[in-house]
Amino acid sequence: MAYISLYRKYRAQTFDQVMGQGHIVTTLQNAVRQNKFSHAYLLCGPRGTGKTTTARLIAKALNCENGPTPEPCDECHFCVQIRQGSCMDVVEMDAASETSIDDVRGAIVENAKYAPMEARYKVYIIDEAHDLSAKAFDALLKTIEEPPPHVVFILATTEFNKVPITIRSRCQRFDFHRGSVADIVKRMEFVLQSEGIEYEAPALLAIARLADGSWRDALTALEQAIAYSSDKVSVDTVYDALGIVEEDALRELVDRLIEGDQAGILAQVHEQSRRGREARIIAESLLNRIRSLMHAQLNVETAAQQYETPVWAALVEQARRVGTARLLAWWQKLSQAISDMRVAGAPRIVLELALLSIADQPVQVAPAVAQAPTPARKPAGTYEEAWGAFLNEARQEKPRAAAQLAAARIEQKGESDFTIYAGNARAVEYFCKPEIKSWITERFSAALGRQAAIEIVQDSAEAVVEPRKEEVAEETLEGDRLVKAITTTFEGYEVRKPSGEAGR
Ligand SMILES: [Zn+2]
Repeated sequence: MAYISLYRKYRAQTFDQVMGQGHIVTTLQNAVRQNKFSHAYLLCGPRGTGKTTTARLIAKALNCENGPTPEPCDECHFCVQIRQGSCMDVVEMDAASETSIDDVRGAIVENAKYAPMEARYKVYIIDEAHDLSAKAFDALLKTIEEPPPHVVFILATTEFNKVPITIRSRCQRFDFHRGSVADIVKRMEFVLQSEGIEYEAPALLAIARLADGSWRDALTALEQAIAYSSDKVSVDTVYDALGIVEEDALRELVDRLIEGDQAGILAQVHEQSRRGREARIIAESLLNRIRSLMHAQLNVETAAQQYETPVWAALVEQARRVGTARLLAWWQKLSQAISDMRVAGAPRIVLELALLSIADQPVQVAPAVAQAPTPARKPAGTYEEAWGAFLNEARQEKPRAAAQLAAARIEQKGESDFTIYAGNARAVEYFCKPEIKSWITERFSAALGRQAAIEIVQDSAEAVVEPRKEEVAEETLEGDRLVKAITTTFEGYEVRKPSGEAGR
């Protein structure tokens, strides 16, 4: 298929085409409608979220022949010129390449004194404004402080903090949000339908996840996938075009890691290398997978929306088998390996050694959330003995949990599947807290000598056992600390507890 620059072709040309920034569009349109627009705007936000697009729309709204208007026509002389980037009175500059004081003085400060050549307003759009030098900002400040009535400044930046306070305080500021996966998928569907190109829905989800909220990155990746596809955009073409490891292979690899199957791990790495994936790409894809598993383990709602339901269910199931502590340990090992690869001469060896060492230590608690050290002991014989050993240990470590667990009973349901019958709904809710459940699974598995999968259900016949008050306080603090440590590691994603209360 032919290569098309989709981001340019489908750049929003009217305000109602701007997606995911409704809070900004409404404010801007009202300002133009009431003739109360600012002479200096500061547009902040991550890359590819529509800052430059919006800046051009402001220029159109002010200069449209039918305006100033909140709904520029996109057809008149000025609208067309601005769209094509050929309007003499709308000056776009990239501060990353033109940062010197002379550039700013020549292009803006001197020029701004004169009336527009033909349009109503002179509009200066400065991209990556934080890259301007201190002197350039100084030169600009005077003009922004007392802007001529026919001049409007629009500064766009991905790094708000690097813009001097003196400039910030003179500008009206707008914060651009990352696009949601659902919105980005919708946009790509629209583009593909307009282009008459067929696609598989999971392929678009994969692209949207990678784009991390950037509309531009999503359309650029889609472009690559289209160029790579012979007939339709499929999951395979997306993974091949972008050179990343596919979901199925990652799920396989994680299964091999859980099982400690070292030969299987090496075979997986070999297969990915054969398909042209670099060791670093394999490691980064796996790291992303571990992050997704952590989100699945913690039941992060926004993460669930990024997957099709069966794929998410599979993630949750796999996360349950790995356990939080192991995920954190894997995360640390793999992050270290990725940083080692940057200096090491043989990245594939670094990757293989890291994976083998992960597989060699099936249960390893990460230091960041380390709890009381577990005394070395032999695995118990039966599962009941293992349960007893686990309860003894739990009394020292988590008195509240131990009290609740002592009132519960356990039954074996399959080779490695166990059901804990809790006495009441509150106990069920407590045991189902991600940090408590993974702790139970972890410690019981250790006592058992193999990985166990645990299900928690309510046993109506059981008596109610209430923990003592002071133990509750102590326990809650510990649980929250654990969640905090996890959310810090995982960029502060919202952690949703099963009870519905959100923690940070
Ligand atoms: Zn117009």
